[in-house]
Amino acid sequence: MNLDNLNKKYLLLNPEQRIQELYSDFSKVLFTSSFGTTSVFLLHLFHKIKPDETIYFLDTTYHFNETIVYKEHLTKLLNLKVIDIKPEEWKNKFTQQDKTWNTDPDLCCSINKVEPIDKLKSNFEVWVSGLMSSQNKHRGKLKVFEQKDDIIKFYPLIDLTEKEVLNYIKEHKLPEHPLLSQGYNSVGCFHCTVAGKGRSGRWVNKSKTECGLHL
Ligand code: SF4
Repeated sequence: MNLDNLNKKYLLLNPEQRIQELYSDFSKVLFTSSFGTTSVFLLHLFHKIKPDETIYFLDTTYHFNETIVYKEHLTKLLNLKVIDIKPEEWKNKFTQQDKTWNTDPDLCCSINKVEPIDKLKSNFEVWVSGLMSSQNKHRGKLKVFEQKDDIIKFYPLIDLTEKEVLNYIKEHKLPEHPLLSQGYNSVGCFHCTVAGKGRSGRWVNKSKTECGLHL
């Protein structure tokens, strides 16, 4: 099925139905999670629909300790199968010494985020991501399925609002990311994240709004 037909079909479904249907259209599914403030919604849906799916966590080495603790907590609670993937050690060390997040954040994200995922992507047909169109201008243009280089991206939450996601988390009594109550609506690496509404706390005072994984 081509992407236009897939988008027409999935637009009529809710996120849960989209994930169920995904496994009839694709077999090699890549699911990554940042264990951020809204991640538990998608993790919970997979826990219900496809509990044996592997979840890849990109360990940039720059995560808040709160994110690591939260990840471990959710892994136990939802019995998740999580695999950590890391950047190349020598390149990551270079970014530590060079403080590349200050001088060239695109290069830093490329080394610590984009390259490790690029290596993984070639084994899969479709890549699941929890992006929502309300999060920023770029994401506002996305559909449920998008071709990105040689992989198809799948955004089952694309037409949900953050409020709907946070309401689901509350209704299902799922644990919140510990930094949410401290005013962090979006959480990434500690070098590039401060408290703020929406994604306003990410890469403050820089023109950057995305790490490059989703562009
Ligand atoms: S978010 Fe910041 S610290 Fe993390 S990889 Fe990108 S530039 Fe580096």
